[in-house]
Amino acid sequence: MNTMADFNNCPVCNKKLNNHFYSFDRHVEVAQYSQDTGDTAHTVLRSEPIAECCSSECAWSSIFSGLAERGIKHTGGGVGPIEVCAKCGGPVDMSEPHVSYVYHDQTLEEQPWLSSITVHYAEGLADVCVRCDGDVAADELNLPEPVEDGEISAESQTVA
Ligand SMILES: [Zn+2]
Ligand SMILES: [Zn+2]
Repeated sequence: MNTMADFNNCPVCNKKLNNHFYSFDRHVEVAQYSQDTGDTAHTVLRSEPIAECCSSECAWSSIFSGLAERGIKHTGGGVGPIEVCAKCGGPVDMSEPHVSYVYHDQTLEEQPWLSSITVHYAEGLADVCVRCDGDVAADELNLPEPVEDGEISAESQTVA
């Protein structure tokens, strides 16, 4: 897990980060909609930080340049069930795995035996469909390393 030693400098202003930091994250998420309660639950299948910054100002500057670099509009994201892709303008089915870009204001709480993140504030930036983000399939399946041909045939022989 993360410890203080893993903290780098802010990619925007190069200041050393502390436990309270501001991040620009890429999530692969899937939403479940409950018919009974109307509640929405988001499951984050994969979370990857794009930038971890010293201040909200630095984070937002990296968010705007990072979204622009990827050709993604700052749509603000949404809760679905169908959102508009921030890249191609097509539909994003939120109940299927899709990419959400998110801003987090958070603090890493360090304990000798466990570290945890407390999120003070989160804001959706954009939702992107799987057609526009080719990594989703691999993220979603979260497959182990491909098995070598030799091992596959050995396995099917055992089964047969
Ligand atoms: Zn900074
Ligand atoms: Zn798209």
